[in-house]
Amino acid sequence: MASLSVHLPPLPLEGGCQCGRVRYRITGAPLVFYLCHCSECQRHTSSAFGESLRVRRTDIEVEGELRLTERLADSGTRREGYFCPVCGVRIIHASAGAERVNLKAGTLDDTSWLVPAGHIWTRSKQRFIAIGPDELAYETQPDDGDAALLARWNEMLAPA
Ligand SMILES: [Zn+2]
Ligand SMILES: [Zn+2]
Repeated sequence: MASLSVHLPPLPLEGGCQCGRVRYRITGAPLVFYLCHCSECQRHTSSAFGESLRVRRTDIEVEGELRLTERLADSGTRREGYFCPVCGVRIIHASAGAERVNLKAGTLDDTSWLVPAGHIWTRSKQRFIAIGPDELAYETQPDDGDAALLARWNEMLAPA
């Protein structure tokens, strides 16, 4: 069992890029929040890990221009990164055509409520990041997709 519970703020969740030209609203409850320690997340965040808040594409309303950068993953999947063309902040990552996308959670106006359901790609995590013994953690991609992460997230959600 996770020790910390998640108190989801009232919808919509709002956020934006650093310069303010891109603003967004999330109108549906996020499906899960997790951290990715893969080397690509380390590179595109220029930091230790990526913060992924998984939401339905149709639940995101964007104001302002997002530019797209694409990359072919080792798996052969085309990955999309949407960013503000002025300040360069990444807002959304997705697999091409996917209905569920990852919002880069550090762009939320209020990040205080975020607690990860787990960690993926810990094989490449920075040594100074400590993961608790009761936290869900995967050396690479979870075999079950995101089923266990989703289940843990639902356990962590406090009643509204
Ligand atoms: Zn910007
Ligand atoms: Zn990653």
